[in-house]
Amino acid sequence: MKGILKGLGVTLSTSLRKPVTIEYPDDKHALPVRQRSFPVLLWDFDHDEPFCTGCNICVRNCPVKCMTAVMHDNPKYVEGTSNRRKIVEKFWIDYARCMRCNICVEVCPFEAIVMDNNWSGHEHAVHDRRDLHLDISDLLYQSKSGNLVNPFRPQDNIEMLEREVKGEEPPERAFKGAWTSDRLAQMARLAAGKPAAIQEREPEKPKAAAPGVAPGGGPAAAEVEVLSESKIRAKRMRAEREAKAFQDRGEEVPQEVLDRIELYRSMKPGQAAAPAGSAAAPAGAGEVLTGLNPDGSMRFPPGVGDGPKGDPNSFEKCRARRTRAEKKFKELSEAGEEIPEDIAKTLYELGSDLAPGGSIWAPLSGGAAGAGAPTPAAAAAATGSADNWRPPAGVAIGEKGTPNSLEKLRARRMRAEKKAREAVAAGEPIPDDIMATLNELGGEIPGGAA
Ligand code: SF4
Ligand code: SF4
Repeated sequence: MKGILKGLGVTLSTSLRKPVTIEYPDDKHALPVRQRSFPVLLWDFDHDEPFCTGCNICVRNCPVKCMTAVMHDNPKYVEGTSNRRKIVEKFWIDYARCMRCNICVEVCPFEAIVMDNNWSGHEHAVHDRRDLHLDISDLLYQSKSGNLVNPFRPQDNIEMLEREVKGEEPPERAFKGAWTSDRLAQMARLAAGKPAAIQEREPEKPKAAAPGVAPGGGPAAAEVEVLSESKIRAKRMRAEREAKAFQDRGEEVPQEVLDRIELYRSMKPGQAAAPAGSAAAPAGAGEVLTGLNPDGSMRFPPGVGDGPKGDPNSFEKCRARRTRAEKKFKELSEAGEEIPEDIAKTLYELGSDLAPGGSIWAPLSGGAAGAGAPTPAAAAAATGSADNWRPPAGVAIGEKGTPNSLEKLRARRMRAEKKAREAVAAGEPIPDDIMATLNELGGEIPGGAA
């Protein structure tokens, strides 16, 4: 009897006790501060794009290799609404393999990825594990929709707790633009009719419009990109490889490929190129050309300074040679001494305005340089040889060292020109093979003999 009463007492007290269970999923426990579920990407509300640049550092460091990231050029960089030149294009994480180790969060240099610290991060029950392969829109959803009110990076939160215990100021937020306040600010911008992203700086200049060559051969307006030196070189080499492939197959190199080779040979970094087939007038026929571009950088004659980096004909080496020659010229001029022929030749060939006897730009300006502009012959006389030779289309497009390379054909043309001059000086006719070489390579025929 005593035992029965004791049992009833336990039943009664238990039935009156406040329950310790909750009705999940309607009710949920508050999650501990340091809990973490799976990694998610952060949305930058200030620039209306992900923080992630797709740099692949997390991908390489993930111990289970469950991540994939693809980067591309950021169109917002050109618009001036972002300072990220590159941005993530595609991103996948396979949550079925992720072991929530947090390494991706620790190694990310852009603080673009955090561990989801909400219940939503834990609730990933699916029927098919392939559904646990999340793409970029899934990974950005939590941050973009404002569900990630306190983005979690363990290193930040640990530091914050440590400072809190010591009674110090909390650390500065590691990432800006991903917080609730930033999302609200973006919504306010949109409500006021402003763009979603903050305008960081002026949009980049649009592509320079330059006259091009229509497929039929006539002039047409064409967009020519303003490229860096390495891009120009890469595009030129690609076109040359294409031309070589045609030659190796014994086929004729298409005009379009030759035009591209010509275009990228005459193009200078940061400038629109001269239209293909107008090498003699790199900045437009009739324009008065000088040794300097409008932006103050050095202008070189066509074919000069367009070699690959490290090559004697590279932009850097030509600039250094011209600078040295101009310095020497000034020193000698101030001392009242005569300018040696090699200095005069360098100044002329590299397009310096200081070239004694007139610069190379006078003949290249299509006669627009005004009275007193020296003829090419006069300039050549002043400098020894005005070797601003441009090979005819399809010639000298081989790689360095091959018989059709620019260097070898230039040497062949110069030998032919020398022999032709010697023959004319001796009162003899120019041999047929020499004439053929001069005609083939566009060499100068002494006395204008045909
Ligand atoms: S938490 Fe670890 S396992 Fe998961 S994606 Fe990041 S690095 Fe890979
Ligand atoms: S999350 Fe970070 S480390 Fe990973 S690709 Fe994006 S920027 Fe790079």
